[in-house]
Amino acid sequence: MRKAIPYGRQNITAEDLATVVATLQSDYLTQGPMIASFEEAFAQYIGSKYAVAVANGTAALHLCTLALEVKPGQKVITTPITFAASANCVRYCGGEVVFADIDPETYLLDYHSVEKLLEGSPLGTYHGIIPVDFAGRAVNLEKFKALAEKYNLWIVEDSCHSPGGFFIDSNGNHQNCGNGNFADLAIFSFHPVKHIASGEGGMVTTNDEKLYKKLLMLRTHGIVKSDHLYTNTIEFAGGDTNYPGWYMEMQELGFNYRLTDFQAALGLSQLKRAEEGIARRRTIAQKYEEAFKGKSFIKGQSGVVEGHAYHLYIIEVENRLGLYNFLRTQNIFAQIHYIPCHLMPYYRQMGWKEDDMPKAENYYKHCISLPMYPTLTEEEQQFVIDKVVGFYN
Ligand SMILES: *Cc1c(COP(=O)(O)O)cnc(C)c1O
Repeated sequence: MRKAIPYGRQNITAEDLATVVATLQSDYLTQGPMIASFEEAFAQYIGSKYAVAVANGTAALHLCTLALEVKPGQKVITTPITFAASANCVRYCGGEVVFADIDPETYLLDYHSVEKLLEGSPLGTYHGIIPVDFAGRAVNLEKFKALAEKYNLWIVEDSCHSPGGFFIDSNGNHQNCGNGNFADLAIFSFHPVKHIASGEGGMVTTNDEKLYKKLLMLRTHGIVKSDHLYTNTIEFAGGDTNYPGWYMEMQELGFNYRLTDFQAALGLSQLKRAEEGIARRRTIAQKYEEAFKGKSFIKGQSGVVEGHAYHLYIIEVENRLGLYNFLRTQNIFAQIHYIPCHLMPYYRQMGWKEDDMPKAENYYKHCISLPMYPTLTEEEQQFVIDKVVGFYN
């Protein structure tokens, strides 16, 4: 039996290993120099002013809703076709998740569905939008930004699938996912199936200095360690004319969402190969596209799109269950992304039900993600293609 072909997987090189080992042997296991180096290099790669490394993508999302001060009952709009964490971060702060349907052509949060929600409610009903660069395809945030300005909303871009992805704005410029030009905050994950792996890990990017400082504080218990920020008196702190060396203050209810230094070292080492990885992903997408062109069993696919980061390669097919089970017998582990979030039992409790999001639900009936990762060999990809085509013949 040939080796299993998953839908996505990490690639750890000898250079990655050497970097991690060197960091493990250094003076720092956590919050050492690798954190700042990774943050700096990541911000530069994405094109944002600031980056804050955190424990995972979910923690990154939670820090965003905390920094934006989401309050109980506040409504936030997101897509049902995403990993649940995109929505859950609103619930962590007691906010209310409002799903809007997808565009069946792009599988992304549909601008018109969002606009309809906003137009149908008094100003101030909604507080934010969380668009997701699903599968690696960049959301056109220029359009959403205009809506956000009109309705006074913040935007958190969930870019977990799209480091290195971009959309082309109305002036013809490339706008990288997470660059902060149109969103208040953006988040990334370094889970092994994502483009850059650090085991667990995440990043928040922003161009807003105030939010950046808040994220830093909330990442580490809400503690500040800087004389000019203290609110207790020097006398209380036990100093004479200055705050004593040990002094610090916990000013907000934060968390321990720090990344370790050796994970940052791995992330930094992986980041060096990010563009190479995307180029390979685009080549794989091209080959799938050509292989499936005009095939009657394919209902739709996003095709080869400029700026797509190809975290996933998704096709929509008839008899999806049959194909999925057949591929498993061939040791090909295709996957389904995603079961619509609004139909998870947790969200059904809140009143969401079938037919609420007809386009997302119809997409879910047919979608399947084929193997897509830089180390997938040409021979393996051909095997996958032959099996898919063979199943329908
Ligand atoms: C992976 C992922 C997350 C969560 O990231 P973790 O690092 O696994 O916590 C959030 N949103 C999307 C779209 C993801 O793919």
